[in-house]
Amino acid sequence: MSRTFTDESTLTTLCPRCLNAFRNTRGIRVRRADPWQFTKEPCTYCQTNFGYDYYIQPTSPKATSFKKGRFDDESECA
Ligand SMILES: [Zn+2]
Repeated sequence: MSRTFTDESTLTTLCPRCLNAFRNTRGIRVRRADPWQFTKEPCTYCQTNFGYDYYIQPTSPKATSFKKGRFDDESECA
C-alpha cells in the first residue's frame, strides 16, 4: 500500500454529512481522493456514518511573506 501525500492535502474519510460541513467551510477545498472507490469506510470525524476518502486542502494562502523582502534587498544592493 503506497499513499503519496502532497504537501498540504490531507486524506480523510468523510460521510456525506461531514462532507457537507467541510464544503461549507471557507478556506477549505474538498476533493474526492478516488472517484472509483466503492467501499465505504467509517467517517474520520463522526465515526458513526460511512463515506469515501477525500483530500482536504486549505485554499487560502498561509503566508504572503514572499511578497516582500527579497526583491527590496536586491534592488538596494544594485
Ligand atoms: Zn461523518
